[in-house]
Amino acid sequence: MSPTHSRPAHDAAGRFAPSPSGDLHLGNLRTALAAWGFARTTGRRFLLRVEDLDRVKPGAAERNVADLRAIGLDWDGPVDHQSRRIPHFLERVQELTAAGLTYECFCTRREIHAAASAPHGIPGAYPGTCRHLTEEQRARRRTERPPAVRLRAGVREFTVRDHFAGEFTGAVDDMVLVRNDGTPAYNLAVVVDDAEQGVDQVVRGDDLLPSAPRQAYLAQLLGHPAPSYLHVPLVLGPGGDRLAKRDGAVTLRELQDLGHSPEDVVTWLASSLGVAHPVRTAAEVLERWDPGTWSREPAVFEPWDAAGD
Ligand code: GLU
Repeated sequence: MSPTHSRPAHDAAGRFAPSPSGDLHLGNLRTALAAWGFARTTGRRFLLRVEDLDRVKPGAAERNVADLRAIGLDWDGPVDHQSRRIPHFLERVQELTAAGLTYECFCTRREIHAAASAPHGIPGAYPGTCRHLTEEQRARRRTERPPAVRLRAGVREFTVRDHFAGEFTGAVDDMVLVRNDGTPAYNLAVVVDDAEQGVDQVVRGDDLLPSAPRQAYLAQLLGHPAPSYLHVPLVLGPGGDRLAKRDGAVTLRELQDLGHSPEDVVTWLASSLGVAHPVRTAAEVLERWDPGTWSREPAVFEPWDAAGD
């Protein structure tokens, strides 16, 4: 039996965790529908968690929630907001610090970029510049710039299992846990929340597959098992790049302005996932749920005409 269909613990959960940086586009809605479907067809609770620690656009969270409801999704318990748990995330970092597993980092973005693109650097990975500063050096640097807090990673890579991608090994670097403005970083918050909210099934876009190894490693350090991962292929725009605003009407509201209903959107989302028969509602998606038959290729969005033309 695949991990997805094995019997979950009775309080196990799946989730959708949007960053409220703008309206959800068809790719985000499709991921949400998939996450909801996987949770609902495996007896899990489904949680909606707004990841509002950064990149927040005023009003976007409320609009995200309304759009998810409009396409027929439901969730267990109230909508959750990460910004309400900042002290809790920082406490978990203090525990790691007490165990000697963090260090302060004073690097600017530019310094990190220069060091990471040096020969033998892992592309995009932090090269560990501040790992070995002496206490004296740190004291001096603190007067120049507030530090970020990084994980002192004990491995350089880690392996996870993904329902779609199979075994996947990816880089683990000294990731930022607390940004230098004092805000907990995404990788920390997502791991702490998934672990503590009973999330054992993570369904999200496959742009985040490369982050899964470092997140699973961090979960292990915090004493939690890694969740099952299901990274679904993204929706691409007609040009082959990831779907974006420039591709035309791509949000529920924009499509509604063209005369399309939420049911039309569900029909598109379901068929682009690979649901075999045309369906109109999220409930019908569950009736036709057969992810073994879904395409592993990204879906391509073609601009929609105005309804009725
Ligand atoms: N909040 C993240 C995003 O919208 C997703 C996090 C996750 O699913 O792990 O990109």
